[in-house]
Amino acid sequence: RGRDIPAEVTVSALPARGGALIVIEDSSGIEAAEQQRRDFVANVSHELRTPLTALIGFIETLRGPARDDPAARDRFLGIMEAEAGRMNRLVRDLLSLSRVETEERRRPAERIDLAMMIRAVAATLQPQADAAGVAIVTAGADEPVLVQGDADQLTQVFHNLVENAVKYGGGGGEVSLRVFHIDHDPVLRGPAIAVEVADRGEGIDTMHLPRLTERFYRVDSHRSREKGGTGLGLAIVKHIVTRHRGRLRIESEKGKGSRFTVILPERIDRR
Ligand code: ADP
Repeated sequence: RGRDIPAEVTVSALPARGGALIVIEDSSGIEAAEQQRRDFVANVSHELRTPLTALIGFIETLRGPARDDPAARDRFLGIMEAEAGRMNRLVRDLLSLSRVETEERRRPAERIDLAMMIRAVAATLQPQADAAGVAIVTAGADEPVLVQGDADQLTQVFHNLVENAVKYGGGGGEVSLRVFHIDHDPVLRGPAIAVEVADRGEGIDTMHLPRLTERFYRVDSHRSREKGGTGLGLAIVKHIVTRHRGRLRIESEKGKGSRFTVILPERIDRR
């Protein structure tokens, strides 16, 4: 029809009696997915190998040079514990991601009070915020706010966002969690409930924003690892929000802070 045919398309014509059979295959999507899968496997292997190499190295040291040095042994065991913890978090996040992907087509059906949920998330992360000298402030969470969803998964969404805000945006001293109603969301095309997680920290350079929810994408790898990050937190958030037919909006200004808003359709199936 006059449109450009991508290079990956193969066109084959078989002569047949009185005509031709034309088969058009567009393999560009399949190839892109295959490439993504290869990249993912390579990334996972790399992420697991780094702590594993450290563990193997320290085991050798403990068996050899550090065998009779209790102070060194303690220090190395501490490092090994941290590295094993890193592997543990990575496997935990990989399992979360695969669980969400498996369930992606199934519409979650629990009735959830988002207000209660965000109060609970704030309470769970309070000790971490206290340790970082950050106050978590909630707004709009006094009255019940109902949506339809998967409670464990939505809890994970807000947990990841608030934890990131404390970890990366904590320098601003305050993280705010706000629930509010939207009469008409132009993208979801209907009434919606929004949960906004905002910090007044360092912010994120605009060039990184479009890639932030990719698996293993980090603005500063060293910093993320130092803070115990796996690079999968926002990918998990994105998948869960998509499964809930919602959307994630990310706004950030360098030096001023970031704002992550989860927007979910307000419709509730009454059964
Ligand atoms: P990680 O496990 O590295 O935290 P995420 O997927 O949760 O992975 O986040 C990806 C990256 O986005 C982080 O490494 C960090 O660089 C950046 N980021 C996430 N949230 C914030 C925030 N509130 N402020 C600044 N940077 C952030």
